[in-house]
Amino acid sequence: MTRELPGNRPILLKNDTCPYCGLMLDEGTATKEHVIARNFVPRGKLDGQWNLILRACRACNIRKSELEDDISAASMHPDAWGRFHNPDPMLLSAAARKAENCISRRTGKPIKESFEKIQIDVDFAPGVKMSFGCTAPPQLSSERVFELSRLQLMAFFYWLTYNAARKQGGWWLGEFVPIVEAPRSDWGNNLHRIFMDRVVDWHPRIIATGADGFFRIAIRRNPSAVCWSWALEWNHNLRIVGFFGEGETVEKLIQDFPAIHMATVVDNPNERITVREEKALEEKDDKLFWPKSGGA
Ligand SMILES: [Zn+2]
Repeated sequence: MTRELPGNRPILLKNDTCPYCGLMLDEGTATKEHVIARNFVPRGKLDGQWNLILRACRACNIRKSELEDDISAASMHPDAWGRFHNPDPMLLSAAARKAENCISRRTGKPIKESFEKIQIDVDFAPGVKMSFGCTAPPQLSSERVFELSRLQLMAFFYWLTYNAARKQGGWWLGEFVPIVEAPRSDWGNNLHRIFMDRVVDWHPRIIATGADGFFRIAIRRNPSAVCWSWALEWNHNLRIVGFFGEGETVEKLIQDFPAIHMATVVDNPNERITVREEKALEEKDDKLFWPKSGGA
């Protein structure tokens, strides 16, 4: 089943079950849930835009907001050199406000103080010590990023399979398999590229840009198995990709996926240090959200 996006107004579901945990909703447990949360993107970016608004149970709604809080702050943050990809004033002010107010779940400090210093000391040669450091922008834990991805995808899948008469949508059967997340500076890494090549011809179920470009989603169906690929992009910065569906199919799909490229920065008989080598993606090679139409 495919759905058309309305373009400039919200999709409103009057659903009877929580799309995240399946609980039967009643007036006591139901809350209004914006799947692209208002404060997940810079202020005003959802005005006059589509969004998916449905009902969810209070517990799931609270859990999702808790994930959105520091993940949005970190995904709006400039890179390690203080550069913003998109100099939108609403992004700059939202990023500054969140840097003050959001606490990184990883460091326990406000996002603006959560730059992580990485100091590497090595014995370069007998009697010679070498040390170098670098500063990374606020880091997110992959588990939290994947959990929020799973919730957003569940909501969109619920909508794709929604039966208005029964007031219920469905869930995928099988596994949820996130592959990798990457900041903009690393969208061209080998794993993202092989993922893109493998799924670009699958049947698009939804390929959409929302919140004035600050949110993107792609769900594609495998032409010959009960399996879907998915991709998300948050705040022009963070991309996450993966699959859901039959575990066996996903396993076959990813068995030849390479490990992420690591660069060796120190290699001597006593010490070997590798760091993730970032690789940017040129726009002409970007097929992740192709074709760029609305709903499909
Ligand atoms: Zn729930």
